Amino acid sequence: MNNASSDYSYVADNWSAVRARVDDACRAAGREPSDVSILPVSKTFGADAVRAAMALGLRRFGENKVQEIRSKAAALAGEDIAWVVIGHLQTNKAKDVARLASEVQSLDRIELADALHRRLQIEGRAIDVLIEVKTSPEESKQGLAPEQLLPFLAALRSYDTLRVKGLMTMAVQSEDPAAVRACFRQLRELRDLACVQGHDLKRLSMGMSGDFPLAIAEGATEIRVGTAIFGQRLRTA
Ligand SMILES: *Cc1c(COP(=O)(O)O)cnc(C)c1O
Repeated sequence: MNNASSDYSYVADNWSAVRARVDDACRAAGREPSDVSILPVSKTFGADAVRAAMALGLRRFGENKVQEIRSKAAALAGEDIAWVVIGHLQTNKAKDVARLASEVQSLDRIELADALHRRLQIEGRAIDVLIEVKTSPEESKQGLAPEQLLPFLAALRSYDTLRVKGLMTMAVQSEDPAAVRACFRQLRELRDLACVQGHDLKRLSMGMSGDFPLAIAEGATEIRVGTAIFGQRLRTA
């Protein structure tokens, strides 16, 4: 929690401010504001914070730990919420993901696709997925190597429980906007290349609290925003 009380009334103001900045970034880039959606990232914040966001009409929430989805889904049972996995996923979490998540944006390897597919078949479900691509040189960043994207997309065609909708990335953490922007541009160019090869990828999930205007300038269709909506996280996610 970022404040002692569980008063999340500030979330409404933060949400409006982020939406206004997104709209500005769209106009600056010559894009329609309606073409960019915002995924609120509720990681480390509890069910009360999610409820505050739900009061604004928000229904999709990004989380990077399956355990957190499990506890929040239990606390918010019966609510119409779509949980979106955005963090690195271990294959042994596939069962919970298949049960609880509406979407995975961090698909980055075939073993994970395999594990998710088997569990989704058991559940009788299919989910949307984005492929996370590593566009930054940092060791800490996850994702598929860019040159592996086309073979990976070809391999995913045999998994009918995974509907591949687009790509996701995290940009390099840098003070240099050109370096950050280059990551976003690379993701867009990869998406365009994949489309030329016959893959129907529309979505580009890129940009976070600190860098989303650059991502929007490079074609993001959705940004993932935690801090700017919910406040500073007290613990690392
Ligand atoms: C935490 C997280 C975000 C949101 O980060 P903020 O800087 O708080 O907006 C976005 N994407 C991923 C993958 C994350 O783990």
